[in-house]
Amino acid sequence: MPDGNVDLKTEIPHSARIYDYLLGGKDNFPADREAAANIVASWTALPTGMRANRKFMARMAHHLAAEHGIRQFLDIGTGLPTSPNLHEVVQAVAPDSRVVYVDNDPIVLVHARALLTSTREGRTAYLDADFLDPDAIIGSVQLRDSLDLERPVAVSLIAILHFMLDDDEVRRIIDRLMEPLAPGSVLALSTTTLDNNPEAVAAGVAAYTAHGIPTKARTRVEVERFFDGLELLDPGVVAVHRWHPDEESAKLDDSMVTIHGGIGRKR
Ligand code: SAH
Repeated sequence: MPDGNVDLKTEIPHSARIYDYLLGGKDNFPADREAAANIVASWTALPTGMRANRKFMARMAHHLAAEHGIRQFLDIGTGLPTSPNLHEVVQAVAPDSRVVYVDNDPIVLVHARALLTSTREGRTAYLDADFLDPDAIIGSVQLRDSLDLERPVAVSLIAILHFMLDDDEVRRIIDRLMEPLAPGSVLALSTTTLDNNPEAVAAGVAAYTAHGIPTKARTRVEVERFFDGLELLDPGVVAVHRWHPDEESAKLDDSMVTIHGGIGRKR
């Protein structure tokens, strides 16, 4: 836990706090709210897409726990606590589920206590680390103490990869993360797409970047390449509201959801 001297750089907009603000959260500052207003001015569907993404995270986690029997989760780019958090979803299915949360943002670290509310049978751990340093994640005490790598693990990269501009680097990191995991492990991800509303997304991505948060939107084919070497599970890479939709998601118009998601399984 931080010692109270963490510099949150509240005068600079930050992705986790912009996201928190647009989801209706309270852990954000004027600079975040101003950036959010500028981004949403051109990308008006963004808050709807973010809520759809959060619901995708919950359906994906429930699906993996309930249908695939996965009991171990490594969630990288966790974000600020938002109900329901991933461990709440999977521990409601199986109380002995274990979750390691990873983020590199000091404000997420400050709020991480709210993520450490595991059931007695399960476990949640928090690791302050960078996606770009997968060896630090794999070698961490938090991971080694919480997860049994002889059994399947779900790696989730939900709404983080659009902050990584280099596709080859992302693929290398995904390979490195999946390499020590047992067969039956899965990769679940979602990331911003250009496919459903290209003009608004391009303007929104430019606004994020202008606020100091370099961002990239990808085509479906580009997102599918992140699953190279894995078996893509039904229904493949789709806009997140189309992924095993519930009644509410099914009603959303495609132009409102500019983020693609999917799951791939290691053989
Ligand atoms: N997964 C959550 C939050 C998405 S917001 C959800 O979908 O609801 C993106 C998160 O990724 C932020 O919390 C941000 O701090 C984190 N992030 C961005 N770059 C990162 C990096 N290089 N390493 C670790 N986390 C990162």
